[in-house]
Amino acid sequence: MDEVNILKKYIAEMESLPCNLCGKNETQIICGKERFGLDINTVVCKNCGLIYLNPRPAKGQYEEMNRADYRIAVDGTDAGNNKLFQNQYNYFFKNAALLCRKNIGFQPQSILDVGCSCGGALKCLGEIYPSAKLYGLEPIVKHAEYTKEKTGAEVYTGILENWNPGKKFDVILFSKALNHTLDPRGNLEKIKSLLSERGVLILIIHDPMNPLLAYPIEYVSEILHPFMFYRESIKYFLDQVGFNIINYRDGRYVSPSGREMRKLKFPKMIIFARSGRIGSNKTVKPNYLETLKMIADNSSIRLKYGHIYHRWQSPNLAMRFYRKGLKMIGLW
Ligand SMILES: [Zn+2]
Repeated sequence: MDEVNILKKYIAEMESLPCNLCGKNETQIICGKERFGLDINTVVCKNCGLIYLNPRPAKGQYEEMNRADYRIAVDGTDAGNNKLFQNQYNYFFKNAALLCRKNIGFQPQSILDVGCSCGGALKCLGEIYPSAKLYGLEPIVKHAEYTKEKTGAEVYTGILENWNPGKKFDVILFSKALNHTLDPRGNLEKIKSLLSERGVLILIIHDPMNPLLAYPIEYVSEILHPFMFYRESIKYFLDQVGFNIINYRDGRYVSPSGREMRKLKFPKMIIFARSGRIGSNKTVKPNYLETLKMIADNSSIRLKYGHIYHRWQSPNLAMRFYRKGLKMIGLW
């Protein structure tokens, strides 16, 4: 199925918005096309370094797209499926489970996964904290049903903006979803209001600035990512919303081994944070010129070494055979 034809009907009605974090309206264009080839500008805010799509499809168009077509364009189906569930479970188990034990520091009684998709991460959290009651919130109806079936969680269908559960949660997972929202500031403020007094937010986001990302920024920029965050901008954003960062991790390895390279196809940032005072982390406001320089530097690294990364990340048959051999003799 042709993604462009599915998605292009949604760019008929566009709207221009000020920066979601600082409210200013001065931007510089980074690229003029997004991943599916649609003519949408990705811009950087000259005041605070936030990267976002502008102008972008109007709110009604996004709601319709989320409901109807997005998963079909990306996965070919919007049904819940075991592959997606297993990927989510494996990712969380490998990358975040140990960090949870280190950073949460108490037995949570309630865990909410905002944008739980097929429930893989929620399942893993339920295994780490078996006494906790699990909750999920997911806009895609079939995914919500699938999560309920796989995890036994109480799953609500809908989006965070319109959701009022009337209770607070000890742990809230917000994974690979912040860049999908139309109002990240509003979403983080809402999450802050839903955290219990000792509550911890686990935030997982793509890092489009990783120098080892195998794809250019035009590939990460896509219609359904109205916002993009990177190390400097997400730290500043959280500080401005009033979150205290307990732990921050990303995949910016200095010299990655082949094993690590394979994980870097879409490198993620993992952040643990508690509700705090605005500005308490004292993070420095990102300078957009440095952001642009980072993008340019990354492009030149990719031009030089991109083919090697691609070979590691998407090995051909000969390379797989070679690695298998290395594994058998314990060298890889
Ligand atoms: Zn701004």
